[in-house]
Amino acid sequence: MELLRINVRGVVQGVGFRPFVYQLATKYNLRGWVCNTSEDVKIEVEGRKEALDHFLVDLEQLSPPLSHIEDIYSTNRAPVGYPSFEIRHSIAEEGKYQLISPDIATCQACLQEVLTPDDRRYRYPFTNCTNCGPRFTIIKDIPYDRPRTTMHRFQMCPECQGEYDNPLDRRFHAQPNACPRCGPALELLDAEGNPVTCSDVISTASQLLKNGKIVAIKGLGGFLLACDATNQAVINLLRSRKMRPFKPLAIMVSSIQEAKEHCYVSGEEEELLTSAHSPIVLMKWKPDSSVSQAVAPNLKYLGAMLPYTPLHHILLRETGLPLVMTSGNLSEEPIAKDNDEAIRRLSHIADYFLVHNRDIYARYDDSVTIVERGASQIVRRARGYAPYPIHLSFKSQQILGCGAELKNTFCLTRDEYAFLSQHIGDMENLETMEHFEDTIALYKRLFRIEPNIVAHDLHPEYLSTKYAQELATKSANIRLVPVQHHHAHIVSGMVDNGLESPVIGVAFDGTGYGADGNIWGGEFLIADYQRFTRMGHLEYLPLPGGAAAIKKPYRLAIGYLLSLLGEEALNQDLPCLKQVDSLDIDIIKKQIEKKINSPPTSSCGRLFDAVSALIGVRGEIEYEAQAAIELEMVAYDEVDETDSYPISIVEQNGLSLVKLQDFCFFQL
Ligand code: ZN
Ligand code: ZN
Repeated sequence: MELLRINVRGVVQGVGFRPFVYQLATKYNLRGWVCNTSEDVKIEVEGRKEALDHFLVDLEQLSPPLSHIEDIYSTNRAPVGYPSFEIRHSIAEEGKYQLISPDIATCQACLQEVLTPDDRRYRYPFTNCTNCGPRFTIIKDIPYDRPRTTMHRFQMCPECQGEYDNPLDRRFHAQPNACPRCGPALELLDAEGNPVTCSDVISTASQLLKNGKIVAIKGLGGFLLACDATNQAVINLLRSRKMRPFKPLAIMVSSIQEAKEHCYVSGEEEELLTSAHSPIVLMKWKPDSSVSQAVAPNLKYLGAMLPYTPLHHILLRETGLPLVMTSGNLSEEPIAKDNDEAIRRLSHIADYFLVHNRDIYARYDDSVTIVERGASQIVRRARGYAPYPIHLSFKSQQILGCGAELKNTFCLTRDEYAFLSQHIGDMENLETMEHFEDTIALYKRLFRIEPNIVAHDLHPEYLSTKYAQELATKSANIRLVPVQHHHAHIVSGMVDNGLESPVIGVAFDGTGYGADGNIWGGEFLIADYQRFTRMGHLEYLPLPGGAAAIKKPYRLAIGYLLSLLGEEALNQDLPCLKQVDSLDIDIIKKQIEKKINSPPTSSCGRLFDAVSALIGVRGEIEYEAQAAIELEMVAYDEVDETDSYPISIVEQNGLSLVKLQDFCFFQL
């Protein structure tokens, strides 16, 4: 007879881990106990050595689908003669923390119940179990128990309580457990927020969608705006109301078979679409797809996802249409999450609201992914992924990294973890700033982090930089660490790839504040985690009008032509020049000559913009990187191009400059 004490760390709570341990112990005839603590799952098992060995192997290999084991540590102890195996009460410990599961797409077992007419959860939109459902978006604090979630006000009925208390049930300690008798309920509201009387909310909403209406649907992490993805008129209406004329919208389809009607779906893409993360996947769009071109104008990719809540599953089945599902916000504001807030902010966009009474604690956008050359890449990391941490190969102090301006995420570190926040958004308005501050407070609380080192971007005008500086003025204990934008990009790449030693890092980017005060973005750095040396960059060229040149790439094109080839270049028969007023050209010329508001930039993104404008693809943009993305579409069918354009490299003050003049002549 032997006794093992085992500690398991990772995502092991709220994911059915204790019932799994209970069943495993029973299978091998072992006695002892299992319990949750604030930092791990502790197990004591007693039995024959051979059985204990099997138990340990199975513990690691057969663990529940949503669990993620970081570490199993076991020690031998003297046997105590336990009479049976039991699940003990949770132990809360001061200052300790644990990993928290992201929200997870509806599992097959729950979906089956929702679709079975005589099941007590038939058509119940909030069905979930320990293998699926909301997690991160409903948690206010740890330990993760129902009173500390937004489910606290729903008292379980006896049947649900029975499932919750039974270690052999799929819903044992499933904190969001609910049914039509005791759980959250749907309501349909009109654009002014008045209740719409109907016998079946989901059927009525499906009918409205089929009739070309825009419905704001409350989901896991916020409201999504839905409409018929095959109806060009309603999509254009949505675009004009949302003030988003071109930016691509995502769609939701009912099944993987339907996804294949609209996109070429590779094996890797199918795996992503059907995974528990259930992200939006950007895929090649089939020319004969019935999805309107208005969903993603000028693009050959389509962003699609599968239903990830029971509500989506029922709605998609009943409408029988692919639906546009885009964040419920106006242009660049954060996604709306509360019912009142949604009606206030979205009533001029949505015709109807499909709401419910389970509060959302954390805003959480849909994640966006792409598969390139067989490898999946996360473009926007939120639902299904955050707040799962990035693993560091070293133990870190408690640090807050405030992130940059566009597509902001922040990061908090402790121990060997980097807790990267979900996508926050473009830090250009008050709402996004509030979302940023609230989410930092939430992560600090959930993971018990109190950072006294705060890293910020070198850019003095970023709101995230100002936030860091304000923290330092409020507390003398806070040390600020400014970080150059592209150094941060390269070190992120090093962490992602587990690289320790110095690297030659190449950062091809839109815009980042340089150590010399110029706008960097085509950088070759020799870098390690702490420092970098700039070895080379794309030559500096003017950005006539500063921010105006980013919105109007034709300004860049003219600036690059003038700087690289001189005035006679403007006499050439170039598509970009035809669209521009001669007065505008004169202004750009003067700005460059007199160096008025024409900061030099080595940005690679701007080079793409300039080329896009030069060859007549796009001279003005509506969303970030539009000119570069549409340029990519021109080159789309020649992705296997291996030739290069002529460039020359010259040495200047110890730096290698990549000169674009030859490249420019080649273009002409
Ligand atoms: Zn489930
Ligand atoms: Zn119930």
